[in-house]
Amino acid sequence: MPEPSSRVRFLRVPAVLLALVLLLGAAIAAVTGVRGLERANRSLEHSYLVINLLVSTEAALHEAEAKARGYRTTGREDFRPQYGGAVARAGQHSGRLIQLTADNPSQQARARQFDAAVRNHLQEMEILFDDARLEALQESGRERRIDANLRRVAGMTALRRDLMDEESRLLAERQETSQRRAILLVGFIVLAFSAALCLLGFLLWSLFRENRRSRTLEREARDAVRDLQALSEQRRTQSVYAGMLQSCQSRDEVVALTARAVSELVPGSSGRCYLARPSQNFLESAGSFGEHLISSDDILTQDDCWALRRGQPHYVRGRSGGLRCAHVDADAPLDGVSTLCVPLVAQGQSLGMLHVSGPTGTGDGDNDAAILVSLAEQMAMAIANLQLRETLRTQSLRDPLTALFNRRYLEVSMVRELQRCERRGLPLSVLMLDVDHFKRFNDAHGHAAGDVVLSQVGRLIQAGVRTEDIACRYGGEEFTVVMPELDAHNACLRAEQIRRAIEISTVQHLGQTLGPVTISIGIATFPGDGTTPEMLLQVADATLYRAKAEGRNRVLHASHAP
Ligand code: GH3
Ligand code: MG
Ligand code: MG
Repeated sequence: MPEPSSRVRFLRVPAVLLALVLLLGAAIAAVTGVRGLERANRSLEHSYLVINLLVSTEAALHEAEAKARGYRTTGREDFRPQYGGAVARAGQHSGRLIQLTADNPSQQARARQFDAAVRNHLQEMEILFDDARLEALQESGRERRIDANLRRVAGMTALRRDLMDEESRLLAERQETSQRRAILLVGFIVLAFSAALCLLGFLLWSLFRENRRSRTLEREARDAVRDLQALSEQRRTQSVYAGMLQSCQSRDEVVALTARAVSELVPGSSGRCYLARPSQNFLESAGSFGEHLISSDDILTQDDCWALRRGQPHYVRGRSGGLRCAHVDADAPLDGVSTLCVPLVAQGQSLGMLHVSGPTGTGDGDNDAAILVSLAEQMAMAIANLQLRETLRTQSLRDPLTALFNRRYLEVSMVRELQRCERRGLPLSVLMLDVDHFKRFNDAHGHAAGDVVLSQVGRLIQAGVRTEDIACRYGGEEFTVVMPELDAHNACLRAEQIRRAIEISTVQHLGQTLGPVTISIGIATFPGDGTTPEMLLQVADATLYRAKAEGRNRVLHASHAP
């Protein structure tokens, strides 16, 4: 079904054409009507002229008669020319009547008769100026003359009345026709103009609606472009965030990067990133961002957060928009504030929680929540990757049984430490440690008990060295400790402490106390006993064998004379 506006648009062209036809019709009607009225006016004028001529003829006759009688009574000669003038006028008028009634034969016939009667009457009136004829006539009989005169005048008057009546009737008829035409013309013009005005009004209304609609569409299109740009900017920020996450080296970097991304993607928001403490049952704030609209605890347990309990995002919009988590400030008013907690879960492992709060009514709440959930997913994945990387790194560098560095790490780090000490002119001591009669121990108590001993020896060696020392499991039941900046004397003292700590320790295994276990230690010190890692290790190892040979459970430095 087409939209109302498109239906109206479809009617626009016919409406314009109809309006034009109506206006044209009104114009033509106006022109022809005016011409018709002109014609009608001419007819009316014509009738008035005929009536005027009748009246003028009669007036001229009366004047002629008055002048003739005046002459007859007074004998004054000046009446004669006056009479002549009146006679001429009467004849002229009646003659003109014949011409004017040429368009109406019956009326013209009456006009001819009237003209003849007028001329006859005037001729009879001439007798008043002829004394001889008058006398003769008087003798022939005064009564007869009066009768004839009266009949003649009555006939003329009747003719004049007929003419006048017919012309008056024509006048009335023409007036009526003219009036009817004028009314029809005015009615048609008014109707046509009204209809044309209505159509033009409809067109204006339709154009106005169209204009308003196109403005609305234009505004919507502008909004859509702006939304698209905002969306594209969001995508770009998210893509940059995702790219940089890959390069993060620590959880702190991940947290700082996420905090910045949240601030950029959801302006006006604030919050915290919580990370789970491995092997501890709580989460700790690892970073915060924004001006806090509502505060959240630094440390929280899983029970404090609905999102952590349910394992899915928890969104609270305003005071009545959902249950407030226990870690959110219980006294803070939630009017106009929305909060979102998103658990950080990756590979089924709960790693932390992203908590964000912001003012409601700004931005698109659902879109913002979707963005934050997406950020939280990426953040969790990055943290999981970092943990995995850390685990792999530890596994590649450390011995799993004793948690000491492995031999590969020793080889790499020893070169570095030796170069450093060499550059600074400092000594470096290397200790080679070997468990005494370990084969016998294994045979007596079993391989598992032997592993427990190796693990404990490793712990005691680690406890007996400084943090800058590098303690390694060299292989089997042999250990190596690299002690940068430590001379032979101090190395011997520290080796003796380790030997002693192991000698006095006991080993618990399957409810039994095993031991005692002793170790022998051979020491070589840079630069006196060697200048390369290989030389130092070799000399320390040789010294260890000397210690074994001298009776075990002792410390021996390579520089000590055999
Ligand atoms: P010495 O006092 O001369 O060093 O005698 P020893 O018995 O300790 O020396 P030997 O090299 O003959 O024996 C080393 C033994 O250590 C052999 C092996 O069974 C044992 N061993 C090596 N690695 C492990 C291990 O990872 N766990 C256990 N339980 N035993 C190991
Ligand atoms: Mg050995
Ligand atoms: Mg041994």
